[in-house]
Amino acid sequence: MTAQMTARTTQRTTPVMFKAACPRCRGSFELAAEALRLVVGGTSRTTFYSFTCPDCGEAVRKPAGERIVELLINGGVSTLRLHSRM
Ligand SMILES: [Zn+2]
Repeated sequence: MTAQMTARTTQRTTPVMFKAACPRCRGSFELAAEALRLVVGGTSRTTFYSFTCPDCGEAVRKPAGERIVELLINGGVSTLRLHSRM
């Protein structure tokens, strides 16, 4: 339970694109890391990622499982941690 992911991929030249879909307009698209935001809470219920649909402007929020969190962080998505730990 103390596994720490310290992958640093800042020297990567090809931008990572994430596939996402909008539940409102049902559009699917690829988003760059900076278009996504990841929120990591204390539990899986408070861990989610969000983005704004480029088609309809809907603010989409989806639960992020462990693998998705890892994927997003490694892809350079800005992460907000809700842990009140320093
Ligand atoms: Zn949409």
